[in-house]
Amino acid sequence: MSNKEIPYKIYLEENEMPKQWYNVRADMKKKPAPLLNPVTKQPITEDELSEVFCRELARQELDDTNAYIDIPQEIIDFYKMYRPAPLIRAYCLEKKLGTPAHIYYKFEGNNTSGSHKLNSAIAQAYYAKQEGLKGVTTETGAGQWGTALSMACSYFDLDCQVYMVKCSYEQKPFRREVMRTYGANVTPSPSMTTEVGRKINEEFPGTTGSLGCAISEAVEAATNQEGYRYVLGSVLSQVLLHQSIIGLETKAALDKYGVKADIIIGCAGGGSNLGGLISPFVGEMVRGEADYKIIAVEPKSCPSLTRGKYAYDYCDTGKVCPLQKMYTLGSGFMPASSHAGGLRYHGMSSVVSEIYDQGLMEARSVEQTEVFAAAQEFARIEGILPAPESSHAIKVAIDEALKCKETGEAKNIVFGLTGTGYFDMYAYQKFNDGIMGDYIPTDEEIEKALAKLPEM
Ligand SMILES: *Cc1c(COP(=O)(O)O)cnc(C)c1O
Repeated sequence: MSNKEIPYKIYLEENEMPKQWYNVRADMKKKPAPLLNPVTKQPITEDELSEVFCRELARQELDDTNAYIDIPQEIIDFYKMYRPAPLIRAYCLEKKLGTPAHIYYKFEGNNTSGSHKLNSAIAQAYYAKQEGLKGVTTETGAGQWGTALSMACSYFDLDCQVYMVKCSYEQKPFRREVMRTYGANVTPSPSMTTEVGRKINEEFPGTTGSLGCAISEAVEAATNQEGYRYVLGSVLSQVLLHQSIIGLETKAALDKYGVKADIIIGCAGGGSNLGGLISPFVGEMVRGEADYKIIAVEPKSCPSLTRGKYAYDYCDTGKVCPLQKMYTLGSGFMPASSHAGGLRYHGMSSVVSEIYDQGLMEARSVEQTEVFAAAQEFARIEGILPAPESSHAIKVAIDEALKCKETGEAKNIVFGLTGTGYFDMYAYQKFNDGIMGDYIPTDEEIEKALAKLPEM
């Protein structure tokens, strides 16, 4: 431990920013299971993947041997407009909690998309442009990914078509307008514009949609248009790779002040911010260099890690994407409408799933109302109005800090504050009015969805 006094905000200099992404799969002795072709159920090839994804991204998706991958200069230049992201010492929160713990959070909300998603959006748009494509299609849940991709596409002059989960489309009209301001085309999902959308509408009349449905629609739209590819904002290993910038910067900032993290906490939807944050730390663990307590936090309404099954499953409701081995609730699981749309996904990154399965990480699930209580406490003392998704990590960071208060241990707690909640005021309104509910699926509901896992 160094004696340097730690500032409220630890910034890296521009020349201290990472120039390579870190691919934790390369250092894992037991690798995540391979993606399978949904028809043949054989490991998918780069050529097959390239029918849906850009070629370079397909390559990154299948790469589990190169630990470091150069970040192209154009992407570094874009990163410089909003990165490095600060690592903030939550002095005020520590004082308020009366804890001896030291709390740090990596703040990814400092860009118009309001979240970490821009880190991968800009990379994916760059590779699409390099390949000479006209545009990309995608899904968005809460809207952060769609916004991030719209920004990235307008920067590289690409067409951007977004299928937005219907409940978010209705709850967050301003998100839609931000996307349109950046030139994107936004369609509520399930829509009647794709075959799979029409089918889902028929099977689940009145459904407010899910990420799984929107993914299927976006994939169909990409494969039906010349010069288009599909891009995805989470779950995939390529996205985790791009998000490793979060963890690399966090580690560099901690190292600068000689701080060793004890507990690292992140919220888990598809697993990209968590995976990116923990990658360099897990790398140290699997290489036998250090040990950390890592905690994934998910909503009780969509508990993939804590109540799901580790099995091959479809990534989307329409069953067109590759099969992935992951902790899943079943691709037919329709999570209750919740206010943390970004965490409303039935599955989990295969890398995060394997890390969890190897016991390198714990998982906890938390209820919506306790998450908002933590969000409010954080907003009032640290100033930042957090996204509901990010607030899952805040909740557990506070819990861990309070445990330290009991034991008197001055642990270093680091958590990912993935974004801001300015477009979530409808949710905050419900919380402030005391009418927010907690929905927890029954065992029967989960079993029913799990019964439909593909036969292997
Ligand atoms: C999308 C999103 C998440 C969850 O996605 P992951 O892929 O699990 O990181 C978390 N926080 C915010 C603010 C988001 O926009």
